[in-house]
Formats: sequence, structure tokens, C-alpha cells
Amino acid sequence: MKTIHVSVVTPDGPVYESDVEMVSTKAQSGELGVLPGHIPMVAPLQIGAVRLKKGSSTELVAVSGGFLEVRPDKVTILAQTAEKAEDIDFVRAEEAKNRAESRLNSKQDDVDFKRAELALKRAINRIEVTQRKM
Ligand code: ATP
Repeated sequence: MKTIHVSVVTPDGPVYESDVEMVSTKAQSGELGVLPGHIPMVAPLQIGAVRLKKGSSTELVAVSGGFLEVRPDKVTILAQTAEKAEDIDFVRAEEAKNRAESRLNSKQDDVDFKRAELALKRAINRIEVTQRKM
């Protein structure tokens, strides 16, 4: 089976590194699947899951946007935050979701709605990745 080397990197350091058969992400333009031999490209990502296929198993990493770069033998994902599914604190994500929802539902005009919306998306993404709902 042909493989491609994938690294997921954040400002705090590397989060994931492995040879995989396919990497699938949510680019701003839609779902993006990269197989070995893909043409070089750079694509901005949405808040979403990175799926890494290895044999019969698929590993998940939650990322908060960032960029995917494809080079001939290597994919690099650069994200502000990234967590492997098993490293996600589910309770923390639920609390972040609740906080973001109450900010979005509040009538106060000092709420930064864009910021609350992004926090909500990150929290839902982390919850879905731990539950493998994707
Ligand atoms: P919170 O309000 O819980 O901090 P957040 O979405 O504002 O959530 P981020 O700013 O995206 O948090 O991330 C800050 C740091 O905390 C990053 O290093 C990120 O990987 C980590 N992190 C955030 N939420 C979780 C979680 N539920 N489980 C594990 N790590 C997390």
C-alpha cells in the first residue's frame, strides 16, 4: 500500500506524525481527500476533523482551521490548535460549548458574536471528534 507522510503542527509543537494511506480534511472549499501522488497545493482549512486512514483504522485529529500543504511526499497541516481524539477533554469541550451558547443567546451588546461563534464551532468539533461522529 502506498503511503504519504503527514505532520500536524501547531505553534506549541507537533501534534501528530505518521505515514498514512489517505488524509481527508475540511478545506474552505469543501471536503478534500489527499492520496499519495497528489499534486502540490496549499488550502485553507475550516474548523473540523482531519481523518487519517491507516489500513483498516482511521485516526481523527480536531483542528481549528489553519492550512494544509501538499508536497510530493508529504502533507503538512499547520493549525492554531490541534488535538488527537484521545487527547480531547470532553467535559472541557462541553463547558466551552455551554459558555459559547449562552454568550450567543445573551442580549448584551458587548458580546463579540463572531468570537463566540468560533468558540462554539471549536467545542462542537472537539465533541464530535471524541464521539467519532464524522
Ligand atoms: P476553552 O474555552 O476550553 O479554552 P477554546 O476553544 O477557547 O476552549 P482554544 O483557544 O481553541 O480553546 O485552545 C487553547 C488550547 O487548549 C490549545 O492548546 C488546545 O489544543 C487546547 N484545548 C482546548 N480545548 C480542549 C479540549 N477540550 N481538550 C483538550 N485540549 C483542548
